[in-house]
Amino acid sequence: MNKPKIVILGAGYGGIITSKKLEKLLKSGEADVTLINKHEYHYITTQLHKTGAGTAADRQIAMEIPELINEQKTNFIKGSVTSVDVKKQAVYLEDGESVEYDYLLIALGFDIETFGIPGIKEHAFAIRSFRSTKAIYNQITRQLTQYKEDKDPSRLTFVVAGGGFTGVEMLGELAEGLPKLCKKYDVPYEEVKIVTVEAAPSVIPFFPKESIQYTTEVLEKFNINMYMSTKILECTPDKVVLENNIEIPTRTLIWSCGVKGNPIVQNCGLPVEKGKLPVDPYLRVKDTNNIFSIGDCSLFMKDEKNALPPTAQVALQEADVCAKNIVAALRGETLKAFEYHHKGSVASIGNFAAVGKVGNFRLSGLFAAFMKQVIEARYLLNLGGPSLIIKQHFGVSKEPV
Ligand code: FAD
Repeated sequence: MNKPKIVILGAGYGGIITSKKLEKLLKSGEADVTLINKHEYHYITTQLHKTGAGTAADRQIAMEIPELINEQKTNFIKGSVTSVDVKKQAVYLEDGESVEYDYLLIALGFDIETFGIPGIKEHAFAIRSFRSTKAIYNQITRQLTQYKEDKDPSRLTFVVAGGGFTGVEMLGELAEGLPKLCKKYDVPYEEVKIVTVEAAPSVIPFFPKESIQYTTEVLEKFNINMYMSTKILECTPDKVVLENNIEIPTRTLIWSCGVKGNPIVQNCGLPVEKGKLPVDPYLRVKDTNNIFSIGDCSLFMKDEKNALPPTAQVALQEADVCAKNIVAALRGETLKAFEYHHKGSVASIGNFAAVGKVGNFRLSGLFAAFMKQVIEARYLLNLGGPSLIIKQHFGVSKEPV
């Protein structure tokens, strides 16, 4: 009998951790596992703002997938998925190749939600992938270089749209990274403006008011100009237009206003709700018994009205149960219902401040910043053991391009 084929789409948090769990759970020769990802590397999405501001080395954020998996047990294909044919049980890649499956996991992550605002798709910079945040860094350094030639102040204005979790993390990195970049490019930092625009009345509006106040104070200390309760109406190559006739001359708008499921899921012939794949309690896509989906491209309803949020924490917990359920499905055993346990959230504001909530405890300041580092280190430990942590922080590795 042919061995069952398990195919995993996406080597982000959900996909790579599921493949690593399968390496442990499957008996030798029990199934063929194939992991497909757009790039040769896995990136730490929760740290992408550091790539954007140039405050972390590339090797700390992106790491070669073949070095993270056991290639004896998992076959890695670098390829961009374009569609899935559920009837033929095949996945199609951009280069025309197709890969057949018996069990499929769709973990293709998120895309940026632009809400149809004119000019965002064309001119704003997204915190979406390693490559897109590298583009932010390149844009910043290009502006610093060109400022020396034309002294155009719009080149030194950096606007972050969205004062949520990711926006605040990006602002903190810019505030810490730009002074160093200005020194390197010989541009006076006093001329630099960092601006944030948020439609809600405050940054991180879903946090307790003490956390909002702390975050606002840290951002003010960093001299960040804050436009709260203000919507962005348009972005052009050299300005951002806000409500109330406000225009900010800038060449760099960093967009951090929301995410949606990867649009590829629309090409899978599967049910789609709110742009994502709705899943049952066992993480199987609705109306299927051999297709699973986890992470930001899936919709898991925690109750009748509310879906789980698109977070790494959710994707990682789902990966654990999903790997067990894929193995149970192919062995004809009972599947386990997924239960989410929220462990808390911490947002960094640069390297030395952070804000968050763990259980009933509010955290802020240096201790919260330390906790954030612990959370990130725990992920690396899970991914590649202590040697990966050492390599990420002290090693020399090939920088992905
Ligand atoms: P991803 O990790 O995005 O992985 C998707 C993978 O699919 C990627 O490797 C991608 O290259 C690949 N892919 C995409 N399209 C294709 C294709 N067509 N073909 C092949 N491969 C493809 N969450 C938290 O819980 N805590 C935090 O502190 C936190 N901070 C964040 C900070 C930032 C700056 C950002 C951007 C997000 C943050 N998040 C945080 C959210 C978290 O990163 C996501 O929820 C998480 O990455 C989702 O995991 P995933 O596996 O669904 O998708």
